[in-house]
Amino acid sequence: MKIVVAGGDGFCGWPTALYLSNKGHDVTIVDNLIRRKWDQELHSNSLTPIAGIEQRIARWRELTGRSIGLYVGDLNQYDFLRTVLLQTKPDAFVHFAEQRSAPYSMIDREHAVFTQVNNVVGTLNVIYAIKEIVPDCHIIKLGTMGEYGTPNIDIEEGYIKIAHNGREDVLPYPKQPGSMYHLSKVHDSHNLMFACRVWGLRVTDLNQGVVYGLHTEETLLDPVLVNRFDYDAVFGTALNRFLIQAAIGHDLTVYGEGGQTRGFLDIRDTVRCIEIAAEHPADIGEFRVFNQFTEEFSVLELAEKVRKVALDEGLACHVSHLSNPRVEKEKHYYYAKNTKLKDLGLEPHLLSDETLRGILQTAVEHRSRVLTENVLPTVTWK
Ligand code: NAD
Repeated sequence: MKIVVAGGDGFCGWPTALYLSNKGHDVTIVDNLIRRKWDQELHSNSLTPIAGIEQRIARWRELTGRSIGLYVGDLNQYDFLRTVLLQTKPDAFVHFAEQRSAPYSMIDREHAVFTQVNNVVGTLNVIYAIKEIVPDCHIIKLGTMGEYGTPNIDIEEGYIKIAHNGREDVLPYPKQPGSMYHLSKVHDSHNLMFACRVWGLRVTDLNQGVVYGLHTEETLLDPVLVNRFDYDAVFGTALNRFLIQAAIGHDLTVYGEGGQTRGFLDIRDTVRCIEIAAEHPADIGEFRVFNQFTEEFSVLELAEKVRKVALDEGLACHVSHLSNPRVEKEKHYYYAKNTKLKDLGLEPHLLSDETLRGILQTAVEHRSRVLTENVLPTVTWK
């Protein structure tokens, strides 16, 4: 298949591009490299030293003989996006290219506005460009489990059957997102659903859980192919942050009580889920939603798991509780369905001590790169 991976220089996009290329797909990356600029803005870095995108792609070609196309540009520039689609005519458009940090979106008004414009307008442009140029192309859009929030009932995959005043319907599952970033994903979902209903586009919305890990088989082939690894309090995801803290001898900082429960998945499952979605496209006019996570953990459970492995590795490790910078329930019911990807063949990599040890060892290897002043949260929701 001809597959565009928008956001292909990022944490999920880069390993996905390599994985799909390795499977023989004709892959093109589209990215404006803004994630690297946010590191500069935040005086932060990836724990792993990452090569430039051209160098990454050239190395992949040297090692495997496979070419990956590259367009450096912004989805918000419609003419640029049109050119990409006219030249590539993709069968699938995988859309990772958004600002994806909840804390970044909550810094102030400017960052909230930027996040929503970048994400919502970027996705609107994708919708219009696909409609205009390749209407059969399957849009595979990264949403987030955070769109649902933490309702006191089971979370379904996208839709819920409701009986009301003697009548029944299957309706979009209610959304109660917890940040300006998560709201942008909800707005995207609505726009995409509208495009399916009205123009017959085909879309899979992947409500992804929090991703952990960094290596895949492909990124391990060579140091130039290494994936980025975010650890700071703005872009680092919970488990990755705890592993870094363990590596540098910092307390594992749980926000509030730590009963906040979420869906999680290994980066190796992210890449496979994208392949599954691409191999089984949504129908014309279908807005399909998959919940893309494999296990649920509370934040405190994760910290305890990391602590155990760190102690096994001879590292001193404590868990401490910070006053929560976010506004969220710290103890709540959480049960989300996630059967659709497994029914299509996903065999999850579950979170084992071995997996944690592997990531921890990489963190220890690079710990001299950690900027400790970035480890604690500075952005608050209020
Ligand atoms: P990332 O920031 O590492 O990668 C995103 C990439 O998109 C970056 O390389 C960035 O330069 C690019 N980008 C952003 N805006 C762009 C624009 N307007 N035009 C072109 N390129 C643009 O993020 P990630 O962790 O790889 O996440 C990828 C997607 O998956 C995001 O949409 C995110 O919301 C979603 N997601 C991620 C996680 C996670 O745990 N990482 C969890 C759930 C959902």
